[in-house]
Amino acid sequence: MRPFPPNPYCASVLPHFGDDYFACVARHLTQTINHPVGTCRMGRDDDGEAVLDPRLRVRGVQRLRVADASVMPRLVSGNTHAPTVMIGERAAQLILEDWTGSEGWEKDTDEERDFLRKKPGKSEL
Ligand SMILES: Cc1cc2nc3c(=O)[nH]c(=O)nc-3n(C[C@H](O)[C@H](O)[C@H](O)COP(=O)(O)OP(=O)(O)OC[C@H]3O[C@@H](n4cnc5c(N)ncnc54)[C@H](O)[C@@H]3O)c2cc1C
Repeated sequence: MRPFPPNPYCASVLPHFGDDYFACVARHLTQTINHPVGTCRMGRDDDGEAVLDPRLRVRGVQRLRVADASVMPRLVSGNTHAPTVMIGERAAQLILEDWTGSEGWEKDTDEERDFLRKKPGKSEL
């Protein structure tokens, strides 16, 4: 097997395969792979970098929410499209809650909860 070639940005300045070398490689190989998030992050009141409160409202501005990938406080470990759709769904719930006083979604029925708890039989897989 051929040895893994050293990263050209780091190999010339650092001994190969030590901690400093890998720290350098991580800095130079970091990419968004088209999944940038967090430019408008949501967070608690004590989070000085959170532009939004946990209900997606822009701090200091009335009647304005953000509901897209930018609200994620950190990059999720998988792809970002599905979580972004979920953020949109959650935003709809929050708006309904605030405007109607209801929870904005129907709780699971006992039957649905039982179904979710049940292990699927072989024929259902
Ligand atoms: C090349 C590429 C490949 C990707 N592949 C995947 C993948 O395989 N799987 C995955 O899960 N995720 C993938 N993603 C990431 C995913 O597409 C994004 O995380 C997701 O689309 C983010 O949704 P969003 O609503 O935050 O932003 P966007 O989807 O970017 O939506 C923003 C919208 O706002 C509109 N807009 C901008 N400015 C204005 C304006 N002034 N007025 C009105 N409208 C405006 C834009 O036209 C756009 O429709 C990929 C991204 C890219 C770029």
